[in-house]
Amino acid sequence: MKKMYPFTRLATTLACAVLLTCVPAAFAEHGQDTPAVPVKSAEATIKAAVSGNDQFTNHNDSHHFDGFQTGQTPTLTVVACSDSRVHTQLFGMEPDNNIFVIRNIGNQVKTAEGSIDYGVRHLPTKILLILGHSSCGAIKAAMGDYSGETKGIKAELDTLKPVIAAEDKSGDINGRWSKNVERNVDYQVKAAMELYKDKIQANELTVVGAVYDFNDLYGKGRGKLVITNINGETAPNKIMDHPVLKELNRGEIVNHVSSLAPAL
Ligand SMILES: [Zn+2]
Repeated sequence: MKKMYPFTRLATTLACAVLLTCVPAAFAEHGQDTPAVPVKSAEATIKAAVSGNDQFTNHNDSHHFDGFQTGQTPTLTVVACSDSRVHTQLFGMEPDNNIFVIRNIGNQVKTAEGSIDYGVRHLPTKILLILGHSSCGAIKAAMGDYSGETKGIKAELDTLKPVIAAEDKSGDINGRWSKNVERNVDYQVKAAMELYKDKIQANELTVVGAVYDFNDLYGKGRGKLVITNINGETAPNKIMDHPVLKELNRGEIVNHVSSLAPAL
């Protein structure tokens, strides 16, 4: 049987329960459709969390933890949106000790600089992946009126303003939304490149921008990781030739590199 990651399922359950019950108004208006699955009660959610953890420890005996008792050695730093539909299982790799994850609404660099510094400069990982996703409620909210949100949410949406201000506003709302998701990835890659210019120039770090597309907006299939930016390069034909992709075969490259929007 294919190995599953109960802990990730547990996190998904918790995040879904929290987000679906506490989703802010602007996000509810713009970013969320009616949930397709029933929402668990608080009691059922904690039960699922504890039972899920038991499954996790049953599935992973004590030796699972041998390799990282005193330190971590991840090779990938990911800045992802907090959205409950986005999790590290999309990479298909064991996340424990392999993926250093920073999450916030809108997968932003500016609001998580210290955490990213830790991943890139202290661990240090060779890849920094900025991961946007289709149907991102933060981007949709930033495109509209979020003046009624909390101070904290407004502060984190304000930092997306340059992305929204720079769009040409052509096309329908859904098309603009999708393009802004990708443009935000480009914007965050640019911010990261400014922070880590020294490491990029020394060839110690590659900044990759990608969209996790569970809506099949890019025509690659639901759930695909679509690379849209490498070290600021956004033209798909040039991304395809980037040396960091040299271990991918042609089919993998074609299936995982694309673009919906020109860079800002
Ligand atoms: Zn999002």
